[in-house]
Amino acid sequence: MSLADVTAKLKAREVSATELAETALQAAEASQPALNAFCAFDRDLTMTMAKASDAKLAKGEGGLLEGAPLAIKDLFAVKGVETTASSNILKGFKPRYESTVTEKMWAEGGVFLAKTAMDEFAMGSSNKTACTGHVVSPWRAEGSNKGLTPGGSSGGSAAAVSADLCFGATGTDTGGSIRQPAAFTGTVGAKGTYGRCSRWGAVAFASSLDHPGPIAKTVKDSAILMQAMAGHDPKESTSLPLDVPDFVAACGRSVKGLKIGVAKEYRVDGMPEEIDALWQQGIDWLKAAGCEIVDVTLPHTKYALPTYYIINPAEASSNLARYDGMRFGQRVEGADLTDTYEKTRGQGFGAEVQRRILMGTYVLSAGYYDAYYLKALKVRRRILEDFENAFEKVDAILTPSTPSAAFALDAQFTDPIQMYLNDVFTVTANIAGIPAMSVPAGLDASGLPLGLQVITKALDEETMFAVGAALEDSAGFTAKPNKWW
Ligand code: GLN
Repeated sequence: MSLADVTAKLKAREVSATELAETALQAAEASQPALNAFCAFDRDLTMTMAKASDAKLAKGEGGLLEGAPLAIKDLFAVKGVETTASSNILKGFKPRYESTVTEKMWAEGGVFLAKTAMDEFAMGSSNKTACTGHVVSPWRAEGSNKGLTPGGSSGGSAAAVSADLCFGATGTDTGGSIRQPAAFTGTVGAKGTYGRCSRWGAVAFASSLDHPGPIAKTVKDSAILMQAMAGHDPKESTSLPLDVPDFVAACGRSVKGLKIGVAKEYRVDGMPEEIDALWQQGIDWLKAAGCEIVDVTLPHTKYALPTYYIINPAEASSNLARYDGMRFGQRVEGADLTDTYEKTRGQGFGAEVQRRILMGTYVLSAGYYDAYYLKALKVRRRILEDFENAFEKVDAILTPSTPSAAFALDAQFTDPIQMYLNDVFTVTANIAGIPAMSVPAGLDASGLPLGLQVITKALDEETMFAVGAALEDSAGFTAKPNKWW
């Protein structure tokens, strides 16, 4: 059942929020041995929130999300609930504050179900680096029992939504971490314009690229969730001081006459034919819905991944300097202060996190700052200009979401770059800070979901939702994972 449907049933008192919360908690707990999507529960908090929702609903009151159990990526601080960003270094950290995004969701009546596991500090595309162990996708290739990745870094959220364990979840997208797991799990993943959803109270990864957003079952659900999550936050300096448009209404807007851009630069070497075919299918669907297809060029696309992998580690190395064992989470005592820092960080951070800190520190170092970091900022500007030029001609751009379907959890990558390639279609929208969403659009030959991506200009989430809803209508994607867990 979708979030829109369940909130209607709650309002009609066909189901109570407490029954729903109890059922959801049991299903979530029962799924843990197989899927391992969740990393923290707080039964008391869940039931207290559900009771409060029932009291409101009984009086005919209630917000957009009233009574619906929702999962929260472990990057968002939920007051009193362990928040670790799936890293050992934050083990035991219980924030005494609430992130703005979750605070807004609770104000709309959302019920906290659980925290979801993620790649450590949101670095990755597979969910294999969570300190609580792999998250396993509810999907399996036809005729195979092999464990698949749900994608990452918001893989726990995507797995939970796709397995019908919650009615929606939060994610964060720094280079694709909402859209790639959504594409891998047949769910809808969206991020708005940079600053649309506040980063306050979300563990910082790469601050100029981090975008909170929803993972949902339908485009409309993703609009409802983003509606609740978005809005100006005086506590966050890059939060947009603007009113939130009506995203939900935008889902019902006609796309007739819209111009949809297709950029040849997104046709990458070695891309499986079925991804190309799906992209063409998407083009045909939008044409049939009355859109005009226009060729656009985004010439700096090929520099997007290298640019991202300079700016991202640079900001990460700076943000992660705060984990020194003194103020948060784990401390490993050493012989003296320096030894304590080194032991704490050496043992608390996993390999990928250490790699980013090393790369980031290197590109920011006095001798290399100009050659790498400053250069990357200049290329970032060019990538943004490519989009600005394209959006003079078109209303939205259509691309595949990922270059492949979900890969096996035991897939062997010879070097980290292979993992980084997962984000080849998604990082550009983070670099430019513009809205982008992934909509499930088809299955590959082995029955695994594939997504199409819609990108729009800054502040135009409404067109993103309208085009996303049109694609969803045409695709008629109803596939679900077979329940094996
Ligand atoms: N996979 C990308 C990375 O590792 C994106 C992660 C994200 O969006 N949080 O940086």
